[in-house]
Amino acid sequence: DVMNQGGGKITTLSTASHKALNRKSLIHKKLISALQDHKLQVAYQPQIDSQTGDVLLYEALVRWYDDELGHISPDELIPIAEEHGLIQKIGEFVLTEAAQLAATLHHANQPTNISVNTSVREFKDPKHNKQIMSILQKASCPPELIQLEITETFAFKAEEENSISSQMKVLKDAGVEFALDDFGTGFASFRYMQSLPITKIKIDKLFINSLTTHEQTKKLVNGMIQFAKSMDMYVVAEGVETEEQLTLLKQLEVDALQGYFIGHPMTKKEITSTLHS
Ligand code: C2E
Ligand code: MG
Ligand code: MG
Ligand code: MG
Repeated sequence: DVMNQGGGKITTLSTASHKALNRKSLIHKKLISALQDHKLQVAYQPQIDSQTGDVLLYEALVRWYDDELGHISPDELIPIAEEHGLIQKIGEFVLTEAAQLAATLHHANQPTNISVNTSVREFKDPKHNKQIMSILQKASCPPELIQLEITETFAFKAEEENSISSQMKVLKDAGVEFALDDFGTGFASFRYMQSLPITKIKIDKLFINSLTTHEQTKKLVNGMIQFAKSMDMYVVAEGVETEEQLTLLKQLEVDALQGYFIGHPMTKKEITSTLHS
């Protein structure tokens, strides 16, 4: 590996870097056809009220199975899609599916919110709001049923911050709610809480993971909850995997819970099959 020779010298990639590059470009190529052939799918993970246990919403999570590569996780797929300008297409697809499910549940008298992951980056495009509203309209989905989870995947410039924030505000006024995902792991959590129209935070599963085994983590999570509540924010814990975590999070007065202990991501069919007809 002579990658770091620099100074105009000939560089070659290590075998490992080559492999990674090849996989990335293969995924990119396959993603284009998967989008064309409607091969992507969406799974829905329940989130419950920590006091009543009622399902409050389902989080939409993109899923992709390729015959040759097998399951490709969103953590691998999303960055590649962002890099190659395919993230809007994925976003459109997932939101369309989510809006259709929300409308179905709504019409079956079981209104449940659906939450969709999105990158703040997408709000840089001034047409983004219109696209979202038109997708919801086409699906006959009331905007109040949709929540968008935003993650800090990049730093935006101060001048962009205003326009992103006001775009989000327009959607919020139309009824769409915003949650800050992976809270505590990003570099700009506090800044986003101050400048963007966010009403919920989702404490990252990293913290929930060691909640019952590390006293420091427990103090940290307790602090996050108190702090968020003092800002009138609604608090969700993600990645709840054990009963001990659930019990403690209830004591700490988290508003809602999500994780494998509560429920795994499910197919649309699994959700709608429980509807009374
Ligand atoms: P996220 O939004 O924080 O979603 C939670 C992730 O944690 C999901 O992984 C979910 O399946 C997983 N998870 C849920 N409960 C547990 C648990 O108890 N333990 C553990 N260890 N994991 C749990 P997934 O589906 O692989 O998605 C990973 C990330 O990819 C998401 O993190 C989100 O940032 C992104 N993503 C997923 N779908 C989409 C999408 O449609 N659009 C965009 N832009 N990003 C997406
Ligand atoms: Mg999320
Ligand atoms: Mg998260
Ligand atoms: Mg995440």
